[in-house]
Amino acid sequence: MRTAYRAARVFDGVSGHATEDGAILVEDGRIASAGPVADLPAGTEITDLGDATLLPGLIDAHVHLVWSASAEPHELVERESPTLTALRCAANAALHLRAGVTTVRDVGATGGLSVDVARAVELGVLPGPRVVAAGRAIAMTGGHGWFLGREADGPDAVRRAAREEMKSGATCIKLMASGGVYGHAEEPGSPQLTVEEMCAAVEEAHKAGRKVAAHAYSVAAIENALDAGVDSIEHGSFLDRATAGRMREQGTFLVPTMSVYAAMDAKGPELGTPDYVRRKTTEVLEASREAFRLAVDAGVPVAAGTDCGAPGHPHGTLREELRLMVEAGATPQQALRFGTSAAARLLGLEGEVGSLEPGKRADLLAVAGDPLQDVRALEGVLLVLRDGAEVARGPS
Ligand SMILES: [Zn+2]
Repeated sequence: MRTAYRAARVFDGVSGHATEDGAILVEDGRIASAGPVADLPAGTEITDLGDATLLPGLIDAHVHLVWSASAEPHELVERESPTLTALRCAANAALHLRAGVTTVRDVGATGGLSVDVARAVELGVLPGPRVVAAGRAIAMTGGHGWFLGREADGPDAVRRAAREEMKSGATCIKLMASGGVYGHAEEPGSPQLTVEEMCAAVEEAHKAGRKVAAHAYSVAAIENALDAGVDSIEHGSFLDRATAGRMREQGTFLVPTMSVYAAMDAKGPELGTPDYVRRKTTEVLEASREAFRLAVDAGVPVAAGTDCGAPGHPHGTLREELRLMVEAGATPQQALRFGTSAAARLLGLEGEVGSLEPGKRADLLAVAGDPLQDVRALEGVLLVLRDGAEVARGPS
C-alpha cells in the first residue's frame, strides 16, 4: 500500500533545514521517498497537511513506564498489584504516541515490566511506541532506584544480573553509578557501582550487541562509568569541562533530563513531594542546564530524554525537554536532532528510525506551524504514524 503525505515543510531529522513543500511517500510501513512534492510519481494519492511540518517520530531516551508522575510513584507501585501497574504502563505508553513520541527507551521498571510492554507493542496487542527496555535496572544493595530493579554486589553478581536481564528480554542495560534525587538517604554525587562491577555488565551487554546506560551525577561517578565503557551518561548534572572532553573522545552520549527537574521544581510543593526530593532538585536544576551547555559546546553527543513518570512529570512530555534545550542555548534544529536521529543512534536503531530517509520505518509526526522556528510548535500534533499506520490524530 502506498500513501503520500505532503506538508509546507519536511524536516528529515538530520539536516540543518527543512525542505519546502515536501512529501513523504510511505509504502508497506516504510519510507519509499522523502523530498520535494514535485518528485512524487504521477498519480500518487496525497494527504495534504497544509501549513504543517513533517518530521521523524520523536524518541524519548529515558522513561519509566511503570510510574505515572505521582508524588511518590515508587510507593504507589509498591502498594498496588503488578496487574494494575501493567495497566498503568499501557496508559502511559498511549500518552507517548499522542505526543508524537514513537520510540522510547525504558531505563528501569519494577519487575522488568517494560520488557512485556515492549513485546505487547511489537505483537500489536498494545498501542504504544516501540520500547527499548532495560528491564530491571541494576543497582548496588540499597543503591539508587533499587525499587526499579535489582540489587547486585561484586563484578560476578553484576555480570550475572546483566545476563539475567538479557535472558528475560532486555534490549539494553541500565546501571546505577551514583546516588540520585529521588530516593531517601542518598546524595546525587556519591558514587555507587564500582568500575569493576560496571565493566562486567558492559562486557556482557556489548558481547550481545546491546547498549549500556549509566545513571551518574558527579564527575567521580561519570568517570567511573566512562572507565567501564558505558554508552550513555544519564543526568550527568555535575559534568565538568575535562570530563565532557573525555565523553566526546569516547563518543559517550549525555542524556541531560532537564525537564524532570523543572517539573519537580514547579509542581513539587503542590504535589506534596517529600522535602528531601525538593532540596536535591534545587541542587541539580541549574547544574543540569550548565552541564547541557558544556556538553553541546564540547561536541559531546546528546540524546533527549525526560525521566518522565517521575514526580510531576507525566509521559509524553519530550517536547518540554526540547523546549528547555532551546532555552539553554541549543538551536531548534539541534534540539530536534537530539530528539530524533541522535537518540536513534544511542538506542542502536539508526538503521530503522530517527530520520526520514528511504528504507527507514515510516514513523512520522506532523505538527501545525514550524518547530524549526519555534520548538513549541510540537504541541500542535496533527498526525502520528508508526510503521506507516496512523496511531494518533490531533489536536493532542
Ligand atoms: Zn530515570
